[in-house]
Amino acid sequence: MKIRVRFAPSPTGHLHIGGLRTALFNYLYARKEGGQFILRIEDTDEERSTQASTDAIFQGMLWAGLNWDEGPFPDGSVKGEYPPYFQAARWEQGVYQKYIDGLLAEGKAYKCYCTPEELGDMRAKAQAEHRPPRYEGRCRHLTQEQVKRFEAEGRKPVVRFKMPAEGETVFNDLIRGEVRFANKDLYDLVIRKTSGIPTYNFAVVVDDYLMQISHVIRGDDHISNTPAQLRIYDALGWRPPVMAHLSMIHGPDGTKLSKRHGDTSVIEYKKQGYLPQALINYLALLGWSTPDSQQIFAAGELERKFDIKGCQKSPAVFDPVKLLWMNGEYLRAMDETQLYAAARPFIDDAGVARGADAEFLRKIIMLEREKYKTLKEIPDLISFFFTDKVQFDHEAVNKVLKQEGAKKALEAVIAKYSVLADFSELPLEAAARAAAKENGLKAGQVFHPVRVAVSGRTNGPTLFKMLEYMGRDKVLARMQAALELCS
Ligand code: GLU
Repeated sequence: MKIRVRFAPSPTGHLHIGGLRTALFNYLYARKEGGQFILRIEDTDEERSTQASTDAIFQGMLWAGLNWDEGPFPDGSVKGEYPPYFQAARWEQGVYQKYIDGLLAEGKAYKCYCTPEELGDMRAKAQAEHRPPRYEGRCRHLTQEQVKRFEAEGRKPVVRFKMPAEGETVFNDLIRGEVRFANKDLYDLVIRKTSGIPTYNFAVVVDDYLMQISHVIRGDDHISNTPAQLRIYDALGWRPPVMAHLSMIHGPDGTKLSKRHGDTSVIEYKKQGYLPQALINYLALLGWSTPDSQQIFAAGELERKFDIKGCQKSPAVFDPVKLLWMNGEYLRAMDETQLYAAARPFIDDAGVARGADAEFLRKIIMLEREKYKTLKEIPDLISFFFTDKVQFDHEAVNKVLKQEGAKKALEAVIAKYSVLADFSELPLEAAARAAAKENGLKAGQVFHPVRVAVSGRTNGPTLFKMLEYMGRDKVLARMQAALELCS
């Protein structure tokens, strides 16, 4: 069997973290099995589908490196043998109508003329009588006269699919095992709206079949749609794909992941300075694991190791703290060139280090690599290297520069550093220690004022490396200026 899987998002909002996880598992399955990964845009919801959302899907997937083999691309091009890959365009080409006509002709579907008000009344009545509020099939057996009357009234029908009232729909889910639904719990769902556009449950069946999808890997929230879809496959005489439903993603409080838990939009993670590799690594572990619970995967390793048998049934918990940790791990694993390339857009965006020499900036970025958790923190951590004047943190001034001995310490260091032959880390440290000793101060009583004087902060990179990189002129000028703040 040729392995063909698809990610089939509805473009009705941003690309959600859960959507990216679904896309990822499909992508990994295709790569592992040597299959094809298809992107299909399910834009049959005329009111909610937007171009901006389609763009966000493209952008998010490309940023995350989930390259698809077939489907539409942002430049308008298309790859694959089954175009178009937008359902609205497929509808315009009449892809779905003939199957709906076929089901109508065979009596497997029927036109329903019930108005929204009538349906509302039926639901209310069912609720009052403690029955499930589903469509009971009033239009299943309309006479010619009734149809004529409805048409004369100008009612526009939908088409409903006739669900069997008895028996069971059973399928073998690759992740959940055997799943059974009683057919009496299914209802005659709408497969074509009054606008003539098919509903999701119908279009998805036709497209998965026509595009020869071998495996449907999607979120658990669709498991309740599966029996209805399987009935439609059956009615059309088609063999359904293998089903695999991924566990839901919950927030740390055990409820479905939503805005309340923080950012859920993929692009927001990009903006917050997460690396796509780190986010992908993290998402891969949401509902999947290797037998030895490996946490960090080298490039290409997920594609080799992914195994759908390692997917779990129970909900996965999205833990932002772990994601942040993982991002830090990925940042630390980068070399100077990679980190510079990744950090540069954030530095430019923040307007820090304008006009700085690229070689110098690279070195400065590397100075604090151990501390970074996101790319977004970098500009602020390095900004003091590039400002004309030091921006002093008030507390640092009060706690350090206003302390007794601070002025004496700075003066002694200025004297030493003005004549230091080699302005590099080790001699800088030795000179500062000598200044302390000669003035009866502890090392810390000298180091702290120096740090605050040149950076305005109490925390930062390793002190003497930082002074070396900053250079004698700047260091002396800043210490001189800081003398005024000492009491
Ligand atoms: N368009 C559906 C969604 O975005 C796709 C569900 C499926 O994969 O069948 O939820």
